[in-house]
Amino acid sequence: MKRTILYTSIVAAGLAFAGTTAPSFAQQQFISIGTGGVTGVYYPTGGAICRLVNKDRKEHGFRCSAESTGGSIYNINTIRAGELEFGVAQSDWQYHAYHGSSKFADQGAFENLRAVFSVHPEPVTVIASDASGINTLTDAKGKRLNIGNPGSGTRGTWEVIEEALGWERSDLKLAAEMKSAETGQAVCDGKIDAYFWLVGHPSALTQESLATCDAHLVSVEGPAFDKLVADNSFYRKTAIPAGMYNNENDVPTFGVGATFVTSADVPADAVYVVVKAVFDNFDQFKKLHPAFANLKESEMISDSLSAPLHDGAVKYYKERGWM
Ligand code: GLU
Repeated sequence: MKRTILYTSIVAAGLAFAGTTAPSFAQQQFISIGTGGVTGVYYPTGGAICRLVNKDRKEHGFRCSAESTGGSIYNINTIRAGELEFGVAQSDWQYHAYHGSSKFADQGAFENLRAVFSVHPEPVTVIASDASGINTLTDAKGKRLNIGNPGSGTRGTWEVIEEALGWERSDLKLAAEMKSAETGQAVCDGKIDAYFWLVGHPSALTQESLATCDAHLVSVEGPAFDKLVADNSFYRKTAIPAGMYNNENDVPTFGVGATFVTSADVPADAVYVVVKAVFDNFDQFKKLHPAFANLKESEMISDSLSAPLHDGAVKYYKERGWM
């Protein structure tokens, strides 16, 4: 239904794009953004983008909505199937989808995957109950750990880490597969020892777990992680800064970037409208989530992107003199 509306309205979008008064039927165009769990940062990221797009809906005729989804890999696969126009995805999974590597080896390269911009950094983040005895990620061996729901970027990256550590799934006492939004309560209630995810900071779920349970952030360090960072351009060493939550010191870890992606099949006008909404209102955008506070335009249009930029994004970046 949404597809028909979008793709049959290209003429109308073209008129709006050319700066003419949008005809009323142009207001029937919809674009959807796949995000993540409601207590993560992807969901408010999609919400922030849509809010800025919808502000000028009367002029350009696109109505934007952000959907809560299973996360990065679900979003990429659903864009590939033509059922979402945009999605937020970890930079490691953008890379693998575009190149047809890792989890995407069986499906083959998604050559039409297009980058739009990168957003906030996403460190590997582990929250453990104080009772668990887990102080660094490798302490989770033999413990009950949430490894992420299938379809999440978190889960995909867990599988990479598991292999890098030489662990079998049975090395965990319990490998829980809850969605991110369910994990905080599970740690508080003692149902799991820790949860693992890749997320921007501050995030609502991490904040809530650390403020309301006897729990702490756990470091992610050691030779296996050093090797992952050395071997893969999309990983980098980072830290969750001291004082971000209840942590007195920096928590060393490694991480990826959150990126905003689409397909070459999505018309350039739709992509242009989205990019223009974000960067024409950039000060406002940065205020819509605290994880956006340090974003810089020049980094967002190049860092963490491995698929080519969509033509609609390039058009705007050139107009701004950024390319
Ligand atoms: N990086 C996570 C994933 O793809 C989602 C994080 C979020 O919801 O902010 O699974």
